Amino acid sequence: MNLSCLLCYQASPTPVCHWCEDDIFFFDDTLHGSNLLQYGPVAGHVKHSHYDTLSVLGLHTWPMSSLVHQLKFTHSLTAGKVLSNWFVHKRRQCTLSVPNVLLPIPISAWRLATRHYNQATLLCESISNELGIPINQSWAKRQGFSVQHHLSKMARAENANRVFKLSTRCIDDEITAAQSNKDGNNFTVAVVDDVLTTGVTVNTLSKRLKERYPKLRIQVWVATFTPPPNSSLYQKT
Ligand SMILES: [Zn+2]
Repeated sequence: MNLSCLLCYQASPTPVCHWCEDDIFFFDDTLHGSNLLQYGPVAGHVKHSHYDTLSVLGLHTWPMSSLVHQLKFTHSLTAGKVLSNWFVHKRRQCTLSVPNVLLPIPISAWRLATRHYNQATLLCESISNELGIPINQSWAKRQGFSVQHHLSKMARAENANRVFKLSTRCIDDEITAAQSNKDGNNFTVAVVDDVLTTGVTVNTLSKRLKERYPKLRIQVWVATFTPPPNSSLYQKT
């Protein structure tokens, strides 16, 4: 087999070579804790009033950013698998409870029509294979044509409020099934996305979920976090 690293193209028996892997800033449950909402350099920069915990694989800096870019724009299933594999295996020390269902952040229908896949769903599919947690792909919808990344934090909040909606059934079926198993009071979801920047999107959707299901526990799982330019996190890479 003639394999090369997805990031540097040097020969490598693994999809990402160990030199590239060594260059990546991974969050570490033993150093930063399992819930990054209790870790200031992350929590201080993201909206998080409506979800309970935050888990991030690593910083959105090179070469990790390149892997996310491949997942997002070139439909690289291998990149998706590498990210979700790391997410599962580098977080062995994680102390959070295992969620009942994975909820990928939706992309809009027009983007789905042009991109043909949702990168958050791809991540969920690999994680689901590893951990055996089911995925609900129809829990929420994203409407309209707008993209978030040009917008200021406040504009993002207004935009997110307008474009994201829970679907009619949302996670009713999962909750009903859990209640019949007497597991209804500890029902936990993991909202999954590729990149976290301001946290506005996950926070808005978490707010909607808690309005509809007040006892729900919400974890947020993302592959990468983009800190603001002056973040102390950049010095540690
Ligand atoms: Zn490499």
